[in-house]
Amino acid sequence: MSRAGFRTTAKRSKLMSKVRRQNTSAEMRVRQELRDLGVGYRLHAKDLPGTPDIVNRSRRWAIFVNGCFWHMHEGCKRGALPKRNHRQWLKKLEANKERDWRSLSELLDLGYSVLVVWECETRDPVQLRTILSTFLR
Ligand SMILES: [Zn+2]
Repeated sequence: MSRAGFRTTAKRSKLMSKVRRQNTSAEMRVRQELRDLGVGYRLHAKDLPGTPDIVNRSRRWAIFVNGCFWHMHEGCKRGALPKRNHRQWLKKLEANKERDWRSLSELLDLGYSVLVVWECETRDPVQLRTILSTFLR
C-alpha cells in the first residue's frame, strides 16, 4: 500500500472509531436554522443517550444530525457502502445504526421528542426549515 493510501486508511479508522462526529457542516446548518427560528438549544448533551447533537431540556426535545454515510441513510446515494472492505464497513455501520436505535428508544423513554435530520436534508434550506418547524410545533 502506498504511504498516501495508508494515511487515508488510518484517518478513516480514526473517524470510524468516533460514533458521532461533532460540528459537521450539516450540524452547523441546522444550528443556524434554529437560531433563525429563534429557538434556544444546547449542544452535545453527553449525559443523554447517544449524546444528541442539539437539545432543549426544558422542552424535552433532542435532534440528531446524522451523516448519511455513517448512519446508513436508507435509499440515499450518500448512504451507499464502499465496495472495498465492504463487509467490514457493513459490520461497523450496522453497529452504528443499532446504537442509533437504542439511543432513540432510550430518549423516548425519558419523555423526549426526537428528530433525526439527515445530512442530505440540510442542503435545501427551505426543506430544512420545514422539517425543523414541523418538529418544533
Ligand atoms: Zn441522505
